[in-house]
Formats: sequence, structure tokens, C-alpha cells
Amino acid sequence: MKLKVASKILDANDRIAQENKNIFKEKGVYVINLMSSPGAGKTSLLETTIRNLGGKIKVGVIEGDITGTDDAARIDSLGIPVVQINTGGACHLDANMINEVLNDLPLDELDVLFIENVGNLVCPAEFKVGENMKVMILSITEGHDKPLKYPLMFQESSALIINKIDLKSFLDVDVEKIKKDAASLNQPIKIFEVSCKTGEGIDNWVKWIQTLIS
Ligand code: MG
Ligand code: ZN
Repeated sequence: MKLKVASKILDANDRIAQENKNIFKEKGVYVINLMSSPGAGKTSLLETTIRNLGGKIKVGVIEGDITGTDDAARIDSLGIPVVQINTGGACHLDANMINEVLNDLPLDELDVLFIENVGNLVCPAEFKVGENMKVMILSITEGHDKPLKYPLMFQESSALIINKIDLKSFLDVDVEKIKKDAASLNQPIKIFEVSCKTGEGIDNWVKWIQTLIS
């Protein structure tokens, strides 16, 4: 595991994002920018995705957190190349932070790179980092009002993963409303209902990832 503390947010984010994108393309790495509010299950999804891919696809991970290395340690324990970025207060990752750690990953060996953004339903959606697509996770414990309250995140995401579906019977949450509202904001959004805890629905998500990068 490597740790980089981000220095400062630079201007011209989009220009650097394009630079990153060119590098990823040249290296043949498919990049997924994973976003959610804190605790929705980003790291858990990565763990279960990596296990389900069973080493057939070479995965790398960039972990973004304000501080700490807990999430990177979880990925590191799976034997996956991982870099932890500590934003030092910033509530999202930007293209420059990603650019600074590219040499710390074996990009030549990777098929897919997951970038776990800082837990936040707002500004991660505003910053490109050079990804092929953004994906968001919403835990059903967050309630069914989130798509209409935080529309940009849903509009920017190619896929919505609805997590903790195993808790449905304990909650007054309308999962159909989440799906309907997300689709109304973003017509082609792909929706997966999963439980990272029980494994329910994970196979559909993993199969989709495999088709995207094959
Ligand atoms: Mg995490
Ligand atoms: Zn932010």
C-alpha cells in the first residue's frame, strides 16, 4: 500500500482529466469512478467485486478519503494494487490528485481501475478525473428521496447500485421510487439491486463489468 497526501486543487481540472484519460487509454485500463455518500458501501462493493472477478480481470484501486488508510488496507489484504489518496479536507477527488498517483500503480498490468471517491453525494459528481464512467452506490438506508434531492450524482452516473437490499423488510423505503426517479433523471442509467453482505445481485453487476472491459 502507498499513501499520497494531496497537495492542492489545481485549476483546469478538465484538462488534467483529459490527460489522465489519454494515459488510461494508452495503457488499456478501463476506469470507473465510484461515488456515494459515506457508508453506502463503496469499499464493500469493491471487496465483493474483486472476489467475484476471481483474478480473471486484473484490478487496481485508488482510495480517496479525507484522512486515514482503512479502506486501502482492506483492498491491500486482497492482494490488489492500491493507492490511498488523503485529500486533507477536500470532499472530493479531482483530476490532479489522480494524476499525481498514476506512477504508483502498475497500469500496464491492469484491466480495470476503480477510483473510490470521497464519501459525498454532491461534488464528486462535478469533477472528472479521467474515468470511462461514473458509477454510484445508494444504500436503501439513505431513503428514497435521494435521487430528487441530489440529481446531479444520478445524472452523471452510468449505473446506480442500490445496496443493502437485504434490509428492505426492516425499512420504510420505497425502492421502486428510487428506481423510477433515477430513471426519470437519467434515462439510460443501468440499475442493480445488490447486497454486498449476502451477495445478492452481485453476479449481475460483475457480469456487466466483464462485458464492458472484454
Ligand atoms: Mg470506503
Ligand atoms: Zn467536494
